[in-house]
Amino acid sequence: METIHFKNELTTHLETRREKGEIIGFVPTMGALHEGHLSLITKATKNADLVVVSIFVNPTQFDKPSDLENYPKRIENDLAILRQKFKDLLIFVPQTAEIYGKDLKAEKFDFGELATKMEGRSRTGHFDGVGTILKKLFKIIQPDTAYFGEKDYQQLLIVRKLVTILGLPVKIVGCPIRREENGLAKSSRNKRLSAAQRKEAALLYKSLKNAQNNFNQKPLPIIIEDIKMKFDSNPCFKLDYFEIAEATSLSPITTSATKHKKYRAFIAARIGEVRLIDNMALN
Ligand code: AMP
Repeated sequence: METIHFKNELTTHLETRREKGEIIGFVPTMGALHEGHLSLITKATKNADLVVVSIFVNPTQFDKPSDLENYPKRIENDLAILRQKFKDLLIFVPQTAEIYGKDLKAEKFDFGELATKMEGRSRTGHFDGVGTILKKLFKIIQPDTAYFGEKDYQQLLIVRKLVTILGLPVKIVGCPIRREENGLAKSSRNKRLSAAQRKEAALLYKSLKNAQNNFNQKPLPIIIEDIKMKFDSNPCFKLDYFEIAEATSLSPITTSATKHKKYRAFIAARIGEVRLIDNMALN
């Protein structure tokens, strides 16, 4: 396992490996690694000869300076975990200036309606920031395949769109959500929750499960209203959104589902200072 801090060093290393005909897999992360990240890396190592994992907390995708500041950073611990679990990884850990130079700005992308809903609506400029960093990382690494979690399902769709817009020959693989025993989706942000909050936070999962169980049983407005009420009556939470949407366009539905289409439920809520998101397939 090798840790690399500079773009040139990484591209030189990758060129040598690519010349040998090796398949390169890529897992971008913001660190504070957990089992969700490790599941992506495990999948990548099964399908590629060499896997690059980037650890970089990307400033341009944060709309609030306080959120960026409070984002968990545990680089030494992350490297120790990776060293213990994997053999032949390249870990790319750049400084912000190495990636952005003096121009710490997001490029604007036309992701269409995908970027105006849910996370795009709640976090201004978030997906432009995601597009900006991935465009840069894809250019440096030129992976054959890149792995993303369904935990950030809207992001996964945005990444697929980004690759189409840029005409990049990289295959995007979506990976299932890893959860705690109580159902809470694993997240770096969970590290900021107290033990009591972690327990409470299972309400996100329970709500999604409830929507899944009732999807073909109860009218959608009732399902949606029940869930909103549960959050309204719980002082620990501030619900940002709960939506049921078609799985490829993310167009929300509030009355009835169309046969043969796939739907997912999406939720975002704040518990104390920590904003959590989750989603689940309904059919
Ligand atoms: P992050 O470090 O939060 O930017 O996440 C890096 C990658 O890990 C993204 O593709 C996420 O969707 C994915 N990821 C985060 N949490 C999970 C999880 N609980 N299960 C599966 N993938 C995840």
